[in-house]
Amino acid sequence: MLNTEISARKNDAISRGVGMTTQIYADKAENSEIWDVEGRRYIDFAGGIAVLNTGHRHPKVVDAVKKQLDRFTHTCHQVVPYENYVALAERLNTLTPGNFEKKTIFATTGAEAVENAIKIARCATGRSAVIAFTGGFHGRTFMGMALTGKVVPYKVGFGPMMGDVFHVPFPLELHGISVETSLDVLDKLFKADVDPKRVAAIIVEPVQGEGGFYDVPRALMKALREICDAHGILLVADEVQTGFARTGKLFAMEHYDVQPDLITMAKSLAGGFPLSAVTGRAELMDAPGPGGLGGTYAGNPLAIAAAHAVLDVIEEEKLIDRANHLGARLKQRLESLRAEFPQIIDIRGPGFMNAVEFGVPGTDRPNADFTNAVRVKALEKGLILLTCGVYSNVIRFLAPITIQDEVFNEALDIIEASIRDVAA
Ligand code: PMP
Repeated sequence: MLNTEISARKNDAISRGVGMTTQIYADKAENSEIWDVEGRRYIDFAGGIAVLNTGHRHPKVVDAVKKQLDRFTHTCHQVVPYENYVALAERLNTLTPGNFEKKTIFATTGAEAVENAIKIARCATGRSAVIAFTGGFHGRTFMGMALTGKVVPYKVGFGPMMGDVFHVPFPLELHGISVETSLDVLDKLFKADVDPKRVAAIIVEPVQGEGGFYDVPRALMKALREICDAHGILLVADEVQTGFARTGKLFAMEHYDVQPDLITMAKSLAGGFPLSAVTGRAELMDAPGPGGLGGTYAGNPLAIAAAHAVLDVIEEEKLIDRANHLGARLKQRLESLRAEFPQIIDIRGPGFMNAVEFGVPGTDRPNADFTNAVRVKALEKGLILLTCGVYSNVIRFLAPITIQDEVFNEALDIIEASIRDVAA
C-alpha cells in the first residue's frame, strides 16, 4: 500500500476537521522509531504528541497490557471495580506534588481531565468563573475549548463558548509581556469583569505546550498561589503535556515552591493507552456526589495496567535524569547554531521539554514559514517534528525519553542539516 493511496481514501472518508501533520501511514513502531506502510523508517520526535515518554511499545508496558488482556478488558469501574484502578490512584496520590491528603479520579482524554477538574472546582467552591491564559491549550471539548487561549483553529465556528471564562495574558518576557503585565490585567479583570469571590479556579499549564513551550515564571506561579489563597480560588495545574518526567521532574509543578489544589494529567501517563486523571485535595475531590463523576471507559483496565508499567519504567530506567541529560544535549546542539542562523531567536525548556523559536532576522516578527520549512525538510530526511506556538513559529521536541543514544545523535544531525538546508 502507498501513503498517497491511503491519503486519497482518507480525504474521501474522514472529516478535514481532523488536521494532519504528516501523510505517512504507520505500519509499526518501536521505542523512538516508526516505519510507514512503504517500509520507510522515521525517528519520532513527536511521540504521538507527548504521549510516549517511555517510547513506542516499551516491553514492560506491552507485557503489562498483555497480562491484563488475558484477564479482562472492561467491566466499567463504576459497575464491577478492579484493584489496579485503586492502586494507581494510591500511587498518583503519593507521587503528585502537594503534601496533603489527596484523591484521584480517572477519565480517558486530557480534555476530559480538564472538564472534570473544572466540575470539581465549581462543585467544591460553589462558584462558576474560571480564569485561564492566552496561548494556553486545554482540549477540544466545550469547556476545554473555552479555556483554550487560541481562536484559530480551535474555536472557529464552534461558538458560543462556555460562559464565565476569562483570559489573562501569559507572560512572555521574550515578546515584552512581563509578569507584572499579566498580574496587572488579572487585577483589572477583578475590577472590571468578575468578582474574585465568584472565581472557582485559575487553570495554568506550568509549561505551555501547544502555546509554544513557554514556562510559567516563578514569580507568576507564586503570585497566582497568593491570589488564589486570598480569594478562596483553586489553583489547577494542567500537567497533561508536562507530566511524567518530560520536564526533568516527574511533574512540572515540582519546579515551583507552589502546590496546586488540583492536577490534570493524561498523555504519557499510560504510554500510548487512553487514560487521564485528576488528582487533588481529598476534600475537594469528594465535593461531587456519587454518580457526578466517571464515565463508561474512565480508567479502562488495559490503560491502568499500562500506567503502572509506565511509572515503574520511569523509576527503574531513571528517566528523570535521562530527560535532563538529553535536554541539555539538544539545547547545546541548537545553541551551537545560534550565531550562524539569526532566524533562531530562542532555545528553551526545562528537562527534555525543549523548543526552538524562529523569527524573521532583523525584525521582531515570528517566522512561521521558516519553521514549517524546517519541519518539512526534517521529515524528508526521516525525522518527525512538531511545531507549536500561537504564531506557529516554534519547533517543539517530544522524543521518547527512552531514545537510544545513536538514534538521538542521528536526529540531532538531521535537525542541524534541516536548518542549514532551509537557511541556504
Ligand atoms: N491540556 C493540555 C495541556 C494539552 O496539551 C492537551 C493536548 N494537547 C489537552 C489538555 C487535551 O488533551 P486530549 O487531546 O487528550 O483531550
